[in-house]
Amino acid sequence: MVLNDTELQTSLKKYFGFTTFKGLQEDVIKNVIEGNNTFVIMPTGGGKSLCYQLPALLKEGTAIVVSPLIALMKNQVDALRGISTNEDGVAHVLNSSLNKSEVKQVKQDIKEGVTKLLYVAPESLTKDENVAFLQSVKISFVAIDEAHCISEWGHDFRPEYRNLRPIIDRLGEDIPIIGLTATATPKVQEDIVKNLGIQDAKLFKASFNRPNLFYEVRPKTKNVDSDIIRFVKKNPGKSGIIYCLSRKKVEELAQMLQVNGVSAVPYHAGFDSKTRSKYQDMFLMEDVDVVVATIAFGMGIDKPDVRYVIHHDIPKSIESYYQETGRAGRDGGEGHCLAFYSYRDVEKLEKFMSGKPVAEQEIGNALLQEIVAYAETSISRRKFILHYFGEEFDEVNGEGADMDDNARNPKEKEEAGHSLVK
Ligand code: ADP
Ligand code: MG
Repeated sequence: MVLNDTELQTSLKKYFGFTTFKGLQEDVIKNVIEGNNTFVIMPTGGGKSLCYQLPALLKEGTAIVVSPLIALMKNQVDALRGISTNEDGVAHVLNSSLNKSEVKQVKQDIKEGVTKLLYVAPESLTKDENVAFLQSVKISFVAIDEAHCISEWGHDFRPEYRNLRPIIDRLGEDIPIIGLTATATPKVQEDIVKNLGIQDAKLFKASFNRPNLFYEVRPKTKNVDSDIIRFVKKNPGKSGIIYCLSRKKVEELAQMLQVNGVSAVPYHAGFDSKTRSKYQDMFLMEDVDVVVATIAFGMGIDKPDVRYVIHHDIPKSIESYYQETGRAGRDGGEGHCLAFYSYRDVEKLEKFMSGKPVAEQEIGNALLQEIVAYAETSISRRKFILHYFGEEFDEVNGEGADMDDNARNPKEKEEAGHSLVK
């Protein structure tokens, strides 16, 4: 199946209401439509979903989309419902949240060719009755979203993800596979390609550079809390996220900010879900400027004008740091990413891991050493992060080259300055 550019544009407009493709989308979509294996690496918010949704709508048969979270699947299916002319919708979910009659209805829709996208959890795909059913229908391709779940080097390893290839092979011959992820580290990438057996896949990798984000690391002293409060007070009315390692610190710091006249809410997994959504909404609706949170906060949060992300404690990997700071400056405006660093925090994180299985500890420690190197580096922080993601960055002319502390104040000069003062 081959479509020309105008036909693709027309379908983009017709189904999604967009007038232009974002980044690499168009090339990816053409490759998928041609029936090739495809590997897509784009940062969060890059527009990966469309890379399989549009081809699924255009191709004959049903596309299977493997996704790790029921909530993520529901969001996507609801969004797709809006584009359908058929009341039942073109997208369905098949997972443990459905009852028997719902499952029957879904299967009926697939048989009738109504369903263009079927979202499944990996555990549902492995069920024999589902495999048997899917063998009897036409499958256009299988998309594996959040494909980093395959890798122990990713931030969200899920063992069920490792059995996908043999199951796909059972579903039919030569079904094209599309892997998609926002994790760009070479190790994770390798794992995905190997495990899915898509060595022949065409790779589409978008840049992970966020030129509008300013990266800064400051030494963490016993005054860190007042340092943070001072920073926040210097940025009145701006939205910010402050990450802390412990729930206790989250509550403490939120309270200290409140006492200092800053509107702030705490957020961590220890609050019940009602309280969590209340605080989250207060932040999203701008009733408060600041949310002080553990890493439980942020997945799927899309507030475009977050102006700073502060880390009270060093995160467990560069990957996590990139994801967490990535919530700043989504609108392309200013985004200050400030991390406080002390080696004692690293030792704390090492201690946390000491109870875990050895293999997991080894991986955890290796990732931790990389973030330590980031915190201690005197080279361009942006170059460091992008290098970690396997990307070259020109620290002189690259986009955002002057947007970090090391680039603005090279270490040698600073030291020279100190010696002058003495
Ligand atoms: P990812 O999965 O890569 O994190 P999504 O697929 O969730 O990203 O898309 C992120 C946002 O970009 C969504 O709000 C989506 O509607 C929007 N988007 C995707 N493609 C386009 C496009 N071609 N034009 C405008 N907006 C787009
Ligand atoms: Mg996505």
